Amino acid sequence: MFDSSSHAGSFPEQFRVKPGSSFRMDRIDPSATPGIDDKDRAREELAGLTKRLIHRQQLLYADNRQALLVVLQAMDTGGKDGTIRKVFGPLNPQGVRVCSFKSPSSEELAHDFLWRIHANVPRKGMIRIFNRSHYEDVLVVRVHNLVPTEEVELRYSQINEFEHYLSQNGITILKFCLHIGKDEQKRRLESRLERPEKNWKFSSADLAERQHWGEYQLAYQKALGACSTPWAPWHVIPSDHKWHRDYCVARIVLEKLESMDLKFPDPQPGLDQIIIGD
Ligand code: AMP
Ligand code: MG
Repeated sequence: MFDSSSHAGSFPEQFRVKPGSSFRMDRIDPSATPGIDDKDRAREELAGLTKRLIHRQQLLYADNRQALLVVLQAMDTGGKDGTIRKVFGPLNPQGVRVCSFKSPSSEELAHDFLWRIHANVPRKGMIRIFNRSHYEDVLVVRVHNLVPTEEVELRYSQINEFEHYLSQNGITILKFCLHIGKDEQKRRLESRLERPEKNWKFSSADLAERQHWGEYQLAYQKALGACSTPWAPWHVIPSDHKWHRDYCVARIVLEKLESMDLKFPDPQPGLDQIIIGD
């Protein structure tokens, strides 16, 4: 479970859902700011984290032996787009791809649920961000009974096995649930109605989904409890405060990249002998 004690260990650990735990979503306050509680300092430190992220991303790309997969899930308006812009926007676009998963097409529905996911995992050297993911197949699918319950129940272990397979093949996986409160969602939906430049983001479908808030929280609780593994941990980030969310995601991603064994490839021999002609 979410461990908020002062002896929680490393920074990421305080947000991590403990594997095999009986995780409770309602114990996590979405407006809390564990780890950093000052907005100006968080924005300042983010700038420093960003510089280090740019360096590590270049190294991941040059090393070209491993990849990083970042999974973002959240309720509507939860901040997936904002996190992508703020945390990953400054990186070299050559080394980062975003993949947004929408309602499956008829072609996708004609395959197993992980088919479209596997086709989009990162190649070596790349960072891939999933804006929604295979977790929709145990979230929206569960809340709306889109697939028989027995099939959905099988998916948790299928997801764990799939992610294990990826991790054994050079793909490091980090998963983030951007956790907002129902009141904060109301404010964000209202702002989409009120601000002309945000109108395009408003969808009545989000209001319909909002009616299922409680069922979604339970579906998240089940998915995160069942699928936080040592090889693909879930982090729950209290996200009512955008500055807190961005700082935490950036720091956890950076700490992971800095823990990976990455190096620039050896240069070709004899570089010091080469003279570039005029
Ligand atoms: P948005 O991210 O706001 O563009 O919305 C994408 C929509 O696609 C959301 O309503 C998701 O719930 C929906 N979606 C994504 N993946 C699936 C899935 N596997 N099954 C059903 N709906 C999905
Ligand atoms: Mg939406």
